[in-house]
Amino acid sequence: MSTTEVKPSPSPDAAAVEEMARVAATWCAMHGLVVGDRANPRSGTVPGVGLVHAPISLLPSRLPESFWEQACELAPIFNELVDRVSLDGDFLQDSLSKTRQVDDFTSRLLDIHRKMMDANKEESIRLGLHRSDYMLDSETNSLLQIELNTISVSFPGLCSLVTELHRNLINQYGNLLSLDAKRVPGNEASRQFAGALARACDEFNVDSAVVMMIVQSEERNMKTLSEVEAEGQVLPDGTLVVDGRKVAVVYFRAGYTPNDYPSEREWSARLLMEESSAVKCPSISYHLVGTKKIQQELAKPNVLERFLENKEEIANLRQCFAGLWSLDDEDVVKSAMDNPDLFVLKPQREGGGNNIYGLDVREALIRLKKEGGDALSAYILMQRIFPKESLANLVRGGVFHEALTVSELGIYGAYLRNKDKVIINDKCGYLMRTKVSSSDEGGVAAGFAVLDSLYLT
Ligand code: ADP
Ligand code: MG
Ligand code: MG
Repeated sequence: MSTTEVKPSPSPDAAAVEEMARVAATWCAMHGLVVGDRANPRSGTVPGVGLVHAPISLLPSRLPESFWEQACELAPIFNELVDRVSLDGDFLQDSLSKTRQVDDFTSRLLDIHRKMMDANKEESIRLGLHRSDYMLDSETNSLLQIELNTISVSFPGLCSLVTELHRNLINQYGNLLSLDAKRVPGNEASRQFAGALARACDEFNVDSAVVMMIVQSEERNMKTLSEVEAEGQVLPDGTLVVDGRKVAVVYFRAGYTPNDYPSEREWSARLLMEESSAVKCPSISYHLVGTKKIQQELAKPNVLERFLENKEEIANLRQCFAGLWSLDDEDVVKSAMDNPDLFVLKPQREGGGNNIYGLDVREALIRLKKEGGDALSAYILMQRIFPKESLANLVRGGVFHEALTVSELGIYGAYLRNKDKVIINDKCGYLMRTKVSSSDEGGVAAGFAVLDSLYLT
């Protein structure tokens, strides 16, 4: 199905690769390109303890420049689309109405959303920090969107460092590699995201109000959902106060998975924050726009036209849409049972490791059909993308190995708006993730992929 890319430059010999891998791991340690080490029991509970270099690709992965430009141009359009869709509460509720019957998590999010609709709650300052992910489909040689993430998008910090690492290695070993560091595009994702958070604070315009980062429980110095429940309150004027501090912006690095809500306390905290006047990144509406069900609804004929006016922008978005179907469509369900390898079955979950591939698609569809009722509505079907494969050296835990790999490109986007004024609508750097081509899933934190950068050809 996929073709192996021919490398124009000579591959460095094994001794050189080994030296480069050592240099790369050292560079990571010196520049903070590190992650928590699962092998160390104190990692994640004691700050600064138990760190290991991030899993990385030794050198950047090649991508034709035209696809890079295409992905960059889409970022502000997707930002605007998310904002428009977020304002159409009925569209969100209706599109997800069947999903909620069978998916408790989505149902709880919709409950909060409904409460806000009933209260006519308006979010005059809206901040989105998004990432749209793509793969280059080898069948059609086109860039197709995997998904659009609107909550807790990962790695804006580390990916900027990977770009720097790769430029450094190319500069140091340039002759050997016949590569040019200028072909690795700059990556300012962390600076731009931090800038957008700061700017949202300025717009909020309350002295000494802070940005509160919501994290999962094994991280320190920030607030977990249950701490917000215990320590937070909303004043009569709508101000959110946590630990005696006024909150300007709530930035969610957690809250996207049911695991983040082990009890009612976490749901109360989410509702409390939504009810407040603090800027939520994301608001409940932005969060819902990022669900896979909404991605599928937006891909239906004439739906984008409800939210955007510019014909060219609509055509550009549509060009990157892969086939997406709801499981109401009996013909598609039958095709998927006949040819399961051509489809991916996706539940309404984030964070990697949840999708169903290959023969499991058929089995799952048979099981869901037997269950009857709305069981199928918890999922969407997506055309399976077969990305181009290429050889790469992956470095993990100080050890490198060469493998046939595929890559997924994510373009970050920031959007900030205060009432009618769009203050920021930008692309903000990129995340390249590379994984061995035999693995279906793509998450770096989930252990499937490594961090990478881009080499434009
Ligand atoms: P999540 O929200 O969990 O990240 P994704 O839709 O991004 O869900 O799917 C996880 C991974 O599965 C992706 O990173 C990608 O590697 C793979 N994947 C998802 N959709 C497809 C597809 N249509 N074709 C091929 N691989 C896919
Ligand atoms: Mg996702
Ligand atoms: Mg993803």
